[in-house]
Amino acid sequence: MKTQIRNKKSQKKEIKLPKKLVYFFGGGKAEGNEAMKNLLGGKGANLAEMAGHSDLRLPVPPGFTITTDVCTYYWANNRKYPAQLKSEVEKNLKRVEELTGRKFGDPKNPLLVSVRSGARKSMPGMMETILNVGLTTKTIPGFIELTNNPRFVWDSYRRLIMMYADVVMEKAAGIEPEDNMGIRKQLDRMLDEKKKEKGVKNDTELSAEDLKELSEKFKVRIKEVLGKEFPDDHEKQLWGAIGAVFASWNGKRAVAYRKIEGIPDEWGTAVNVQTMVFGNMGDDSATGVAFTRNPATGENKFYGEFLLNAQGEDVVAGIRTPNPINDDSKNEHSKNLKTLKELMPDVYNQLDDIRNRLEKHYRDMLDIEFTIEKGKLYMLQCRVGKRNGFAAVKMALDMLKEKMIKKEEAVLRVSPSQLDELLHPILDPKDESTKKPVASGLPAGPGGAVGRIVLTANDAVEWVKRGEKVILVREETNPEDIEGMRAAEGILTARGGMTSHAALVARGWGKCCIVGASQVHIDLKNKKIKMGDKEFSEGDWITLNGTKGNVYEGKIKMLGAGENILLKEFLKICNSTRKLGVRTNADTPEDAQKARDFGAEGIGLFRIEHMFYGKNSDEPLFKLRKMIVSKTKEERVKSLNELFPYMKKDIKDTLRVMKGLPVTIRLIDPPLHEFVPHNEEKLKALANDLGISFEELNKRAESLRESNPMMGHRGVRLGITYPEITEIQTRAIFEASAELIKEGIKVYPEIMIPVVSHEKEVEFIIPIIKSVYDEVIKKTGVKKIDYAIGTMIEVPRACLIADKLAQTMEFFSFGTNDLTQMGFGYSRDDSGVFLKEYVEKKILPADPFQTIDQEGIGEFIEITVERGRKVRKNLKIGICGEQGGEPASVEFCHKAGLNYVSCSPFRVPIAILSAAQAQVKAQSKK
Ligand code: ADP
Ligand code: MG
Ligand code: MG
Repeated sequence: MKTQIRNKKSQKKEIKLPKKLVYFFGGGKAEGNEAMKNLLGGKGANLAEMAGHSDLRLPVPPGFTITTDVCTYYWANNRKYPAQLKSEVEKNLKRVEELTGRKFGDPKNPLLVSVRSGARKSMPGMMETILNVGLTTKTIPGFIELTNNPRFVWDSYRRLIMMYADVVMEKAAGIEPEDNMGIRKQLDRMLDEKKKEKGVKNDTELSAEDLKELSEKFKVRIKEVLGKEFPDDHEKQLWGAIGAVFASWNGKRAVAYRKIEGIPDEWGTAVNVQTMVFGNMGDDSATGVAFTRNPATGENKFYGEFLLNAQGEDVVAGIRTPNPINDDSKNEHSKNLKTLKELMPDVYNQLDDIRNRLEKHYRDMLDIEFTIEKGKLYMLQCRVGKRNGFAAVKMALDMLKEKMIKKEEAVLRVSPSQLDELLHPILDPKDESTKKPVASGLPAGPGGAVGRIVLTANDAVEWVKRGEKVILVREETNPEDIEGMRAAEGILTARGGMTSHAALVARGWGKCCIVGASQVHIDLKNKKIKMGDKEFSEGDWITLNGTKGNVYEGKIKMLGAGENILLKEFLKICNSTRKLGVRTNADTPEDAQKARDFGAEGIGLFRIEHMFYGKNSDEPLFKLRKMIVSKTKEERVKSLNELFPYMKKDIKDTLRVMKGLPVTIRLIDPPLHEFVPHNEEKLKALANDLGISFEELNKRAESLRESNPMMGHRGVRLGITYPEITEIQTRAIFEASAELIKEGIKVYPEIMIPVVSHEKEVEFIIPIIKSVYDEVIKKTGVKKIDYAIGTMIEVPRACLIADKLAQTMEFFSFGTNDLTQMGFGYSRDDSGVFLKEYVEKKILPADPFQTIDQEGIGEFIEITVERGRKVRKNLKIGICGEQGGEPASVEFCHKAGLNYVSCSPFRVPIAILSAAQAQVKAQSKK
C-alpha cells in the first residue's frame, strides 16, 4: 500500500492528439454520451446523452462538441489549433446544416449558432458563452424576411454584439478595463439610456427600429473603446468565439476558481457549437431553468422559472422577475405572475414528461435549461443538480423509497459536509422558502439562529441573563466581544471576510454566523440598524441562515437536529450498511445518551480525569490535589479513599446509560502537576486541610514540576510508581459494575491503560486489576463481571511491539493525537505556530491532527494491526483520537481493518455516514 502512495507523483505527459476532435449530436443520434465528460465536458456529454440515448432522444438543437484535448493542445502550442480541426468543424457544420435545412452565412436562409464553454466539472459563471453567432449585415435582411420578425432579429443582433465585444474582443484579448468601464457595462448603460429615452421599463418594449439604432451605436462605441471593428463576417465570428472560449479557461476568474475548488489546470474546457433556438421571438416564446425536484427542500416537486420573450441569460441575470413554471415554484415575488402551466399547458406537460424521463434515466435530481420557440420546446442543458444538505438527505430517502436507487447509492448521495448541515439547528426550509432576505453576507458559521438584535457584547450578555435570545450585530468583532458572542444565538457582522475574528471564533464553536454583510449599516448611538432600505431597532427579531449567509426580518421556524426525523431515518440506512463500528468519546451520561440516540455502539473513550475539569469539579479536584501533594503512601491512600465515591458514581452513571454496550474507561492519563493549583488562596486551603505549613506545601508542589510534562510522569507510569492509584480506579470500576449488575443492568467495562511503551508495563498492571476484581467479587457477591483489559496505542514503540502487547491485552485503541504528536515529534499544543504554514506551503498535504497522516502514522497503524492480530486473531482494535470522526480518516480505518472508530457525540453521525460510504466504496471496487 505504501509504495503505491509514494509513487503517485504526477507525470507530465506529451500531448498526443487522437484523430477525432469533434463529436456530433442531433437528429436522434450522438457520437458521444454521458460517460465522456472528461473528453466532452459536462455540458457536451449530457447534450449528447439527451440527444442520442435511445431512452431519451429529446428535442436538442443539433450541434457538435470540440473536445477538451483541443483546449490542452491550444494552450501547449502557443494558442494554435491542431491542423485537422478546421476541416472537422466544417464537416460537422455541414451535418448541422443538412439537419436544419439552413446554411451558416447564407444571406437568404442563415443558420445561427451558439458557442458554449463546458468543462468536466461545472464552473458556474467562470467561462463564457456567445449566442446568435452568424448574424452579419449580409445575413440580417434574409433572416428578417425568413422570420418576418424584424424586432426579434435586431434584438438578437444587439445581444450578439454585447456578448461578443465583452467575451471575445475584451476578455479574451486580455484587456482589463477599470471598474465599471468594461465594454459590457458601457453597452448596458447605453441600453438603459435608450429605454429611458423611449420611456419604457423592459427591453422587450423597445421596437425594431430602436434596437437597430442601438446596434449601430454599439458598433461605434466598440471601435472607440477597443480600437477594433466588430467583425461583420460569420466565419470570423465563429472562430473568434471558439478561441475566446478556450482563452476563458485561463481567464483570471477561472484560474482563481480552479485553485479554490482544486480543479487541475490540465483538464481544459470543451466548446459546444449548437444551432440557435429563439426564446425571444415573441410571447409564444420563452426561456427557462428548472430543477426536477426542489433543490432547497428536496421535495419531489418540479421547480423552475422562465421568462417570456427572452434569451438564455436573462433568467439568471435578474433583469425581469421570472415567472414560476407552476404553483409549486411560486415565491413572494412571483406569486401573482402567470405560470407556464397556465400560459402554455401543452408545453408544460411536455416539459413535465421530459422531467420524469430524465430523472428515471439519470436516477438523480437534475438541473435543466430549456427554450420555447414559437410554442416548440427545446432542451439545452441538463446536469445533476446542486442541493443543500437537507434536500440531499430527503432526496436520497425518497429515491430509495421510489426504488429509483439502491441503499448503497442512497448512502453515497449525501456528503459528510452536507450531513453536517443537518447537525446544527436549522431554519425550517419550508418556512424559509416563503421569505426574502433583507441582507446577505458570507456564510461563516453553519445552521440557523433566531433572536433579538443587540449591538454590543455587554448587552448580549445582559439580555441573555434576563432570558432573552439575541443576535449580536457588530461592525466587526474583536476579542473583547467573546463573552457576548458566546451568549448570542448568532452573530452578524457588516464587515470582515471568512478569516475575520467573528468567522474564526464562530466556526470553532459551530455557532451560526454571517460576516461581511455590507448592506448592514449600524447606528450605535441611536441603537438602530439599516439593512437595505429597512430600519430595525435594538430588540427587533431577526433570523440568520449561517449556511447560506442570509438575514431575514422576524422569526423563521427552526428545526433541531434531534427532531429531524429524516436524519434519523438516513442514519438507520447507513447503520445497516456499514461494517466498521462507531463509538463515542463521552465522559458524561448526557453525552453518552446523545451519541446512543444517533446509533453509537459504545464508548471508545471515557476519561476518568474528566471529573477534575469544568462543572462540579471543585470537590473532587480538591481531593485529587490532596492526593497529588501527599508525601507518604498513607497520606495518599487516605485522599484516594476520599476520592473513591466520586469516581464510582461517575463511572456508574455512564455505564448505566450505555446498558450492556462496551465502555472503554481509561485510567488516569495527564501528568499530575497539571492539577497543582497556582493561586495562593487555594494553596493555603490545601495546606490547611493537610495540616502542613504553606512553605512545606509549596516545596512539595515545586518538586512536581516537570520540564516536559507530556513526556513525563503520566499515564501508566503513574500507575506503576503509585500502584494505589491504579487500585482505586479499578475498584471504582468493578464496584460500580457489580452494583449495576445487582440492579439487573448489563455492563461491559473495558479498562484501558494509557501511554504504554513496553509490555512489562502492562504486565505490572494486570495483577493489580485482577486482585481488585477478586476482592470485589467476594465483597459484593456477584458471580462475575464481564470485562476486558486493553491498552492505548499512542507511543511509536508500542506499535512495533504490538505482538508482545497482544499476548496479554484483549484490545487496542489508537490514541492518534499522541501517536501523531510523538510520531512527527510535533507538540500538539505548540504546533499552531508552524503547522498552518506547513499546509499553506504544501510541506504537508493537511494538518495531521485533523486527518490521519496515512503515509507515516498510517503505517504505524497498519503495522500494529498486523503484528497484534498475528498473536491474537480476534484482537479488538479501535481509534479514539480526534481524527476518528473525520471522513478520510474513517475510510482509512475501515481499510486498515479496525473494528471501530470513536469520536465526539456531535461527530457520530458523520462517522456513521463515512463508515457506510467506506464500505460501499470498498465493495464496488471488488
Ligand atoms: P452557462 O454554462 O453559463 O450556463 P450556457 O452555455 O448554458 O452557459 O449558455 C448560457 C445561456 O444561453 C443559457 O441560458 C442557455 O440555455 C442559452 N443558450 C445556449 N445555447 C443556446 C442555443 N443554441 N439556443 C438558445 N439558447 C442557448
Ligand atoms: Mg447553462
Ligand atoms: Mg494520549
